[in-house]
Amino acid sequence: MTDTYTKFIRSAPGAFIARRTGLPRPSTLPRRGDRPAPILGPVVVLGESAGADQVARDLLGEGADVRRRFDELRSVGSVIAVLDEISAPADLGRILLPLAGAMRSLAPGARVVTISRPAQGEDPARDAARGGVEGFLRSLAHEMRRGGTANGILVQDGVDLDAPGVTGALRFLLSARSAFVAGQFLTVSSAAGSLTENRDRPLAGRTALVTGAARGIGAAIARTLAADGARLVVLDVPGAGTDLSQLANELRAVPVQLDVTSEGAGERLVSFLRERSLVLDIAVLNAGITRDKLFANMTSDRWDPVLAVNIASQVALTDALIEAGDVLGEQPRVVSLASTSGIAGNRGQTNYAASKAGVIAFVDALAARLESLGGTANAVAPGFIETEMTAKMPALTREVARRLNSLQQGGLPVDVAEAIAFLSSAEAGGIRGGTLRVCGQNMVGK
Ligand code: NAD
Repeated sequence: MTDTYTKFIRSAPGAFIARRTGLPRPSTLPRRGDRPAPILGPVVVLGESAGADQVARDLLGEGADVRRRFDELRSVGSVIAVLDEISAPADLGRILLPLAGAMRSLAPGARVVTISRPAQGEDPARDAARGGVEGFLRSLAHEMRRGGTANGILVQDGVDLDAPGVTGALRFLLSARSAFVAGQFLTVSSAAGSLTENRDRPLAGRTALVTGAARGIGAAIARTLAADGARLVVLDVPGAGTDLSQLANELRAVPVQLDVTSEGAGERLVSFLRERSLVLDIAVLNAGITRDKLFANMTSDRWDPVLAVNIASQVALTDALIEAGDVLGEQPRVVSLASTSGIAGNRGQTNYAASKAGVIAFVDALAARLESLGGTANAVAPGFIETEMTAKMPALTREVARRLNSLQQGGLPVDVAEAIAFLSSAEAGGIRGGTLRVCGQNMVGK
C-alpha cells in the first residue's frame, strides 16, 4: 500500500516544505540486501568488562572493523555498549557518555545495542543501575535519526556473553533484518541453541508451517523463511485457495487448505503431516482477523470469531501437534503473532486486544511446556504494518498511526517476517516465552 505522504516528503518540493514546517521526514530504512555486509562498520564496543572484550573479539572474528573508542571517527556504523558488570548507577555514565559526543557521527541506518543484565530484585544499587539501562535505551531509540535504531539485549545472570542467544540476538539487532525493531529488549535466558554457520541460509534443512499464509504478513513470513532455506507448509482457509496455491508454486511449498477454527482442525493437520511424512521444526501461528467495534456495540458475532481465530485456534493446534508426538522435530520453534494492541489496548479493539494479550501470555506458558523437548515459543507484536488489514482503516486514523513511532512510518510485512525468522533459528534457542515488538517504537504501551 502506498504511503503517499512519505513519497511526497521525499520529493524536492516535499523536502522543502518539511524543512520549513518541521513536518516528519521518514528515512528510508535499510533492509536485507541493501548492505554489502551484515554488520555496518566501524563498530565501537564500549565497556570495561571481560564480556566487552569477548564481544569485541567475536565481532573481529566475524570480520567487522571493531574499535574500543570513538577517537576521531567521522562515521560510526554500530555501537555496542556492554554493561554486564555495572553495580551502581554511577557506572552508567562512565560507559555510556562517550556515545553522546558521537551521536552526530552515526551513519544512516546505524545500530546501537546495549548488552546488560535484568534487575533481580536482590541488590538495590545494582538493580538501580540495571534498570537504568532500560530507560536510557528506550529514550535513546526515540532520538535516533536517519533510519538508525537502538535496542537492547538482557542476559540472565549465569549466562555468559558468548552464549549462542547473545551472539544471535546481536547479529539480528545489528543487521538490516531488524529495520523496524526499535527501543526493544530481547532477553536471553539460557545458553541453549547454536550458532548458524551458513548465515545466508540459517534455516536450511528445517520444515516450517505458516498459518494464514495466503497474503499479507503470512505470505511475507513464508517467503522469508524459504529464502532462509526452510521447506514450507503453507496453510490458509479454502476461500484463499487460489492465492495459496500460487504462493505454494512460487516457493515449492506444500499447501494446506484448512480453517484453523474448524472442528478437529488440529487432528486433521496432524493426519495431513503424517500422510506426507512431514515433521515440523517451526510453526508460525499467523492467521488472524479483526472485527473492530466499540465495546458498547460489541456482539458475539464480532467477539467470538476474533477470539476463535487469533488465540483459541493456536491453543488447539499446538495441543494437537505436541500430543501427536511424531510431527514435531527436535528443538521445535513456535512463533505466534500478537499485536501492540494486546500490550497497550486500542479503542474499538476489546475483542482483538483480548485475543492478542492472550497470545502473549500463551507463548510464555507454551515455552515452559516445550522446554522438555528443547523447544521454544515466542511472539512477535507488530505495530502498524502496511497490509490489507491496515488498508481498511479510516484514512486519517491510518495516517496518524503511521507517524506515531520513532521511525515515523509504517513497517512492511517483511519486517515482521525477519523477526520471526530470527526467533525460528537455532541461534534463538536461549530466547523463550517473550514477545518482541516490531513497531518502530510505536508510542503506545510499555
Ligand atoms: P491479513 O488479513 O492480510 O491476512 C490474514 C490471513 O489469515 C489471510 O490470508 C486469511 O485468509 C488467514 N486466515 C484468517 N482466518 C483464518 C482461519 N480461520 N484459518 C486459516 N487462515 C485464516 O492480515 P495481516 O495484516 O497479514 O495479519 C497477519 C497477522 O498479523 C494477524 O495475526 C494479525 O492480527 C497480526 N497483526 C497485523 C498487524 C498489521 O498492521 N497488519 C498488526 C499487528 C498484528
